[in-house]
Amino acid sequence: MRAFLGGKTQQLVSRVLFHPVRPSAAVRWRAAQVRLLCSSPSDEEKHRPSMLRHLTSKIKATGPITVAEYMREVLTNPVTGYYVKNDMLGPDGDFITSPEISQIFGELLGVWIISEWMGAGGPKQLQLVELGPGKGSLAADVLRVFNQLKSVLGVASVSLHLVEVSPVLSRIQAQNLTGTQNQEADSEDEPVYRRGETSTGLPVSWYRRLDDVPAGFSIFLAHEFFDALPVHKFQRTDKGWREVLVDIDPEKPGQLRFVVAPSPTLASSTYVQADEKRHHVEVCAEGGVIVQQLARRITEDGGAALIADYGHDGTKTDTFRGFKDHQLHHVLASPGSADLTADVDFSYLRRVAGGDVACVGPVTQKLFLKNMGIDTRLQVLLRSCSDASTREQLMNSYDMLTNPSKMGERFHFFSLLHPSRIAKPAKTTVGMKLEKKSPAPLPVAGFDELSFS
Ligand code: SAH
Repeated sequence: MRAFLGGKTQQLVSRVLFHPVRPSAAVRWRAAQVRLLCSSPSDEEKHRPSMLRHLTSKIKATGPITVAEYMREVLTNPVTGYYVKNDMLGPDGDFITSPEISQIFGELLGVWIISEWMGAGGPKQLQLVELGPGKGSLAADVLRVFNQLKSVLGVASVSLHLVEVSPVLSRIQAQNLTGTQNQEADSEDEPVYRRGETSTGLPVSWYRRLDDVPAGFSIFLAHEFFDALPVHKFQRTDKGWREVLVDIDPEKPGQLRFVVAPSPTLASSTYVQADEKRHHVEVCAEGGVIVQQLARRITEDGGAALIADYGHDGTKTDTFRGFKDHQLHHVLASPGSADLTADVDFSYLRRVAGGDVACVGPVTQKLFLKNMGIDTRLQVLLRSCSDASTREQLMNSYDMLTNPSKMGERFHFFSLLHPSRIAKPAKTTVGMKLEKKSPAPLPVAGFDELSFS
């Protein structure tokens, strides 16, 4: 679909895309593959015994655990969790993500945020809320765009709110976003566990849970966040749907195995749809709860959420996987030493979001970035760059983000919007005559094609 953005939105997109940033400074390319894992054997030794011991004693005490509980423990256990203990992002970590590959990615999302803020009429307050901010690179790139477009944001009061479960990553985010201008809370019970200020004076706050972020007009970003949330797994059997559980292998006591619950569980009776056609389904109930919170906040306080992740529209079955040593890794082997992830089911998120909020997408990353003007941005950077290796880096990162066989079609963008954003223009009838027509809302950037005059 081709759509023309309103004059103002078009102008701000052009200002960012044609901004004369030195190409060398605009490239953040890492020669690594997506979801690679580079933990050293010593790391593995460090994690494996404690996490495996913890899981086996839990199973011995209470019986087989759900896959969701297994995933939650392995990834976010406050003491030994994979996310809690590691910096897994980047060339020296376990995998690489789009914001780490190129800062163009964050710049385009920055434009999207301002475009949505303008689409809402430019409210006086703008909270940027990021779920699972990793190293803080995406937020840093977005804030740089905010700074370039200061005159557009005018007097709006802008603040940054980061929902992060990992103390290790929150320290890296604080360093990247505020330098030394941040401070940890005195008590662990504080909902805001760290506060800081960016070099341009924007307040930054860190929370463990979305619930703790204050109400107000907010744009929420979640990049590669939902795929890290625990999934329940269900198997169709002769006797009906049964939940898949994790148990200790009786033949090999130091190892775990999957078993199918002998009778229905509360989850298998609640989460599987009556008309489900597949033989195996994964349901991310925690992701569902978060989407419901986002939907409620957006309908009550205004704003939008942009969710970007690998996923499907209710078609895939078994996507739960681990990554280690640059290869797929069995999800039950050496728990805590490898990343665990499952594709996001966007059809489930859309269903649980409910009817009060508007949903758009999912569209592929390639389409979203192209609609946001990535080709134009690349050309501008290439034109002002004479260094051959930087040009090559620019081309490589562009290819990684948009090539259908790399991240271009594996990743999708999905958005929750206030219903007024996509409502049809209202017509008021006076007698038999159509008197007034309220202005049509601006197209939603990224999900509609931009046009540059
Ligand atoms: N968005 C970043 C990082 C993706 S990795 C990027 O794209 O580069 C997943 C991020 O989510 C990490 O920051 C991890 O610590 C965080 N995370 C995982 N589970 C979480 C949870 N339950 N609550 C809050 N943060 C979580």
